[in-house]
Parts: sequence; structure tokens; C-alpha cells
Amino acid sequence: MASGNLRKVFAALALLAVAAACAWWLKPSRAIIRNVLLISIDTCRADHLSCYGYKDATTPNIDALAQSGILFENAISPVPLTLPAHSSMLTGTLPPYHGVHGNTGYRLDDSIACLPETLGVAGFATAAAVGAFVLDSRFGLEQGFEAYDDTFEDTLAGNLIVQRRGGETTDRALEWIERNKDERFFYFLHYYDPHHNYEAPEPFASRFASHPYAGEIAYTDDCIGRVIRKLKELDLYESTLIIVVGDHGEMLGEHGEHDHGYFIYQGAVRIPLIFRLPGGETPMRIPSLVGLVDIVPTVCSLLDVAPPPEVHGRDLSVYWKQGDARQPDRTMYCESFYPTSYGANPLVGVVSDRFKFIRTTRPELYDLVEDAAESDNLVPTEPGRAKTLSDELDAILERTLRDDSQQSKVAPDQDDVQRLQSLGYTGGHSFNDTFDFDPDKEDPKDNLGFHLLTQKVNLFLNAKDFDRARIHAAEMIRQKPDHVSGHKKMAIGLAEVEDYAQAIQFADKAARLDPGDALNFAFLGRLYDTVGETDRAIESYRQSLAIDPDNAAAHHELGRIHMIRKEFARAAECFRNVVRIQPDASRALSDLGNACRAQGKLDEAISHYERSLAIDPTAAFVHYNLGTALTATGRPETAISHFRLAIRHAPGHTGSYQNLVWLLATDTDAPFHDPAEAVRLAQKAIERTNHRGYELAALLAIAHAAAGDFPNAVEAAERAIAIAQQANDPAPLPGLKAKLELFKARKPYIPGPR
Ligand SMILES: [Zn+2]
Repeated sequence: MASGNLRKVFAALALLAVAAACAWWLKPSRAIIRNVLLISIDTCRADHLSCYGYKDATTPNIDALAQSGILFENAISPVPLTLPAHSSMLTGTLPPYHGVHGNTGYRLDDSIACLPETLGVAGFATAAAVGAFVLDSRFGLEQGFEAYDDTFEDTLAGNLIVQRRGGETTDRALEWIERNKDERFFYFLHYYDPHHNYEAPEPFASRFASHPYAGEIAYTDDCIGRVIRKLKELDLYESTLIIVVGDHGEMLGEHGEHDHGYFIYQGAVRIPLIFRLPGGETPMRIPSLVGLVDIVPTVCSLLDVAPPPEVHGRDLSVYWKQGDARQPDRTMYCESFYPTSYGANPLVGVVSDRFKFIRTTRPELYDLVEDAAESDNLVPTEPGRAKTLSDELDAILERTLRDDSQQSKVAPDQDDVQRLQSLGYTGGHSFNDTFDFDPDKEDPKDNLGFHLLTQKVNLFLNAKDFDRARIHAAEMIRQKPDHVSGHKKMAIGLAEVEDYAQAIQFADKAARLDPGDALNFAFLGRLYDTVGETDRAIESYRQSLAIDPDNAAAHHELGRIHMIRKEFARAAECFRNVVRIQPDASRALSDLGNACRAQGKLDEAISHYERSLAIDPTAAFVHYNLGTALTATGRPETAISHFRLAIRHAPGHTGSYQNLVWLLATDTDAPFHDPAEAVRLAQKAIERTNHRGYELAALLAIAHAAAGDFPNAVEAAERAIAIAQQANDPAPLPGLKAKLELFKARKPYIPGPR
């Protein structure tokens, strides 16, 4: 649309600018960069790629890129978590600036410039395909992408659709690239496979049976091979800048951590970074310290596009443009706020060419050259060096910590938390990301055991092994009786086995321990609702919404409870709140329609049903409700079409059959009066629906009589009477018997005025 046209205008301007500037890459030896393909491999330790020295051949395709490209041996991610790391990758800014420190409770703020926004303005078509829910567009990384593919059809985690295999993501990427091959494009391709669990498909599972993590990297490399073959096939390979990068590493048991996110040792923050330029470069291996934040300024420089105003990385092309690998010394920032979710201090550090300093309760200093395992803390013996790096850390924070960074904080919703938990993120408590350092708080190193215990409980909850989940949750409570996590996990484990009375006790304790967390109160509300204590459920939901007024699910649940209690005006208010937060919530619109209808506001109800159906035209029950409201407002003809649509989308929808038969058979003066059709529909309803009451037989009788077939009308009416008698239901008998007499006298049934 308009943005597309704008893009084309800018594209033309950009090409003119390029021609005028006679950029360096127009020299004969350099090929022009037409497209950019940024490939992010999640959870990818540099030392598991064969081009980085891994003992087995894991990455033949990436190796081939490196053989005609530039490989950075010492690249650092500022944060070992997917969403914050990708926020840095795509903005070129550090977490203190963009404000995304974790995977839950954050959304990259719109005010921050992302690479696709910059390149879109410069005329590039921009698109992405991501491999896991943690990068779902709802978390803000879709900014600037014209197409952002985050649908996960091929679920690997039961009913929670949270990730997809590299093969599927590759298919989506290749479809887009092929469709847009004539456009100048920026494509961001994210692979999630090396993230645990390590379950690569064959033949990689067998080939790497003894090291399944390496097998996942090998599988991802195979997917990248497909992408490269397609680029060659489309004749795009020699005009596309290809960047292969990891978002963070994986600890693989080092320092006691199995996966990533908690510590900031090298296993978690050192990443592969390879640039393959069109035309191929003289291959280079650059030992200097570089970072994830360098990608944005480097790409902008290579494309001769002005970078976003705030960028914390450097242009890496100087390494190969100037033919001189010697650059001024750097220090790279890194952080983990994960330990703050257990009440400990964060880990905030800097890495230099040789040393790493980590600020926390018991600070750490390592010589990365002499002590690659980071096991010999030099703070006691080299306090001067620790002080210098600590000052450097302060200087970085001084430069990058943004006043508005809290704008990237959002209240997570329960479904999001659950999906992220199924990906292994323990959550449980939000991060304290204020950067305030309190020397009295615990050291993360002393909280690793609690972290591992929390992970174990999540593992058992996800595996539906609730007995073991509760045993370990009890141990969490024993270790930290005043911390919310154990109580919360225990409540979840108890609710799963339907021990709601005990679950409520633990959930209540969790809510009192962490009164600022809206989800605790929402969970408590759900538990009270389940056991029928609706007063308390309403109170809990209201407490939750007082903390987070934008939790659509809580508004919806609350509305549902008010509906059941026949408090229709309050219910309507709740559903209106859902629609305010999620304008496309078709279910809430339909419920709002029901609440209005229950208050007699039929016209308003009809407009809500119509909006709901505009979003989801397949919802049979909404067609039915709309049909009923239209009938009541004297529009039976339109109602008939909606009853028919209800039956089309739900062939067993008894209520729609009943209303249809009634209208077609009894409204003798109406143009739609069609007794034969009424008979056919009543017979179909008896065949196809599970309805076993007398009503359908009675309707069939009425339809037969309307069609003048009195013998069959009598038979059907007698059957309806028999069904009601068998069900010991005396109420309808007088009416049914009166109709039977009518049909015996060969008279149709005409209802009185409504
Ligand atoms: Zn990641």
C-alpha cells in the first residue's frame, strides 16, 4: 500500500545516492550487495562449528561460507537469552538501552529503531521467518518487517505451539525469497533447533548420537545449505550479503549450568559471526573482540545507508576494507538478570580482549587466555585490573542506560508464560532490572541450585509428571520459604491433579508474597472459579486487573463469571474491556453480544455479533445467536440465512435446526414459508444431531401438518408424547396432546401472536 509506494520512491533515491557516491564497492573487484540475508542460529556455541575448530564436521555449509568470507573468532553476545539478544542484534543497541532483559515481561519498544525499519526506508523489501514463539511478533521484533512469519504449525511441544523445525522455517523463507527475487531484500532467518531439547531429525540424530547438541547444529547447517543452493539457483548468491550469527551459546554443564540464560561465562556469550560478501572476499579470520551489536552498523555501512541514530556497535567492514586487522582495544558489555528472579543480584560484566570482569555480590575477574574455563577468580590478586574494568562497565552503563528503557517492560499474559515455560524458560518471577546494586543481596553463584531445581519442576510439569513436580516444588519451598516461585509451582502441580483446596492455599500464599504480580491473582481467581467460590474469584480477578488493567484473558474470565451470575451489565463491561485491548477478539465480541441481548439491548447485540462474524465467519454459535436476535427483532428472513450458516459450520447444531423448522413451517404468510423444506430439515436434524428430547419429533409433526401430511404429523406427535413420557417430563404433555388432537382433525398448528 502507501508504505510500499514510499519504499519504491526511497529505493529510487537510494540508487541515485549510491551512483553519486561511487561507493567503495563499485570498484571493479567488488560486487554490489543487492540483498542481505541475516541467519541467526539460536543457542549456538561458536566452538561447535567445524570452522571454529569443532572436532567433527558439523557445519560444511557454513564452513564453505567462511572459506570465502570473514570469520570473527571472538564475538560476544551481550545477553544469553533469545529475545534480548535478538533485540540487540536487530537494533545494534545494548540491553540497558533497548530495555529488553528477558524473554517474559518484555516487548521491544516501538520507539527503538530496528534494522528492517532503516532498510525498508532505504528501499529494501523486508521479511523474516522465526523458529520459536519466543520471537513471536507480539514481543516487538516484527518492527519494520513487511512480512514476519511466526506461525508454528508443526508443533514439537504437544498442544502448545511454540517452535518449529529448521526445515519448515527454511521452506517458508525460500518461498518468500523466490517470490521476491526481483526485489532488493533484507531477510532475517532464525533457526531454533540447537535449543534444548536436542532432538535433531535423522540422519543427524544417529550421526551425532553421542553429542545430540552438535547434531542439532549439523541439522541447522544442512538447512542453511538448502538456502544457499536456492540462492545459487535463483542467481542471487553473488549479489547477497550473507551473515551467519548465533544469539548466544549453551553452557553444556560448565559451571553447573546445563543450558543458558543464567550465567555470563564464555560458553553462554561467545557466538559465531561470519560475513560472506558477494563476489567472495579473500578469506579472513579476525581475532579481535567484536559483538552482536556490530551487525547493524556494519550492514548499514556496507549498503551505504545511514545507521539508526543510536547504535552501540562498530562498523566491522574496516577490518577488510582497510586491510588491517588491528583496531583499537574494545570492551564488550554482557549481562544476566535471570538471578534477580530468585532475589539475587544480577550479573553485569565487561569482556576485554583478554579479561572478563563480572559485577555481582562476589565480583569475578578471569584471564580468558590463561584460564579459558573461567575457574580462577583474580579479583583478590588483581584488584587494580578489576577496578579498571569495573570503571569501564560504569562508563558503558553511563553511555547506554536509557531513562525510557522501562517502556520495553510489559505484563506477560498467562498463556505466554506457559508457552515460554514449555520452551524451558523457568519464569516464575519477573526480573529486577533496575541496575541498582545491593551488596547485601545473594550471589547468583549461590542460587544456581535453586535455579536448577526450578527448571526441574518445570520439566516435570511439562511432562505432566505432577507427583515429582510437587516433590521438587516442596523442596523449593523448603529452600526459600519466602520466595514466590515454590508456592506458585506447588499450586500449579496441585491444580493439575484437581486438588483445588490445597492449590488455593499455595496460590494465595504466592499472591501475598508477590503482591505486584497480576498473574498470581489471576491464577487464584481461576482456582476460586473452578471450585465455585465466585465472590472470591471476582475479588481475585479484580485485584489482578488493578495491577495490570490490560490483561484481556482476566477481563474475559471475569465477564464469564458475571454472565453466569446473571450480572449482565458488569459482564458487558468486562467483555468491552477485552475488545478494547484486543479489537479482533471475536469470542469476546460474541460474548458482549450475549450480555447485551440478556439486557434486552437487541440492536446492540446484533451489531456485536456481526462484528464477531466479520472476524470469524465460521463460528456456528454466533450465527445462531445472531439469528435468534434477528428473529426477536422481526427480521426472520435474515435470521434464516444465519441459522443455515450455523448448520453449515456445525452440522449437528440442534438449536439452529429447531429455529429454522419453526420459521419455515409456522409463519404461513411469509414469503419464505416452505413446509416441505421444514419437513426435510426436521428429518435431517433427527438423523444428524445428538438431540434425544421430544422437541425435534414435535417440530417434525408441526412441519408435516403444515405440509398437509396429517397421518405423518399424527405419528410424529405421538412419538414426541412417548419420548416426553419416557423421560418423565410431564410439562410439555398438555401442549403436545393438544397438537395431536389438532392434527387428527387435519388442521395445521398456527402459533398465536408472539
Ligand atoms: Zn536464544
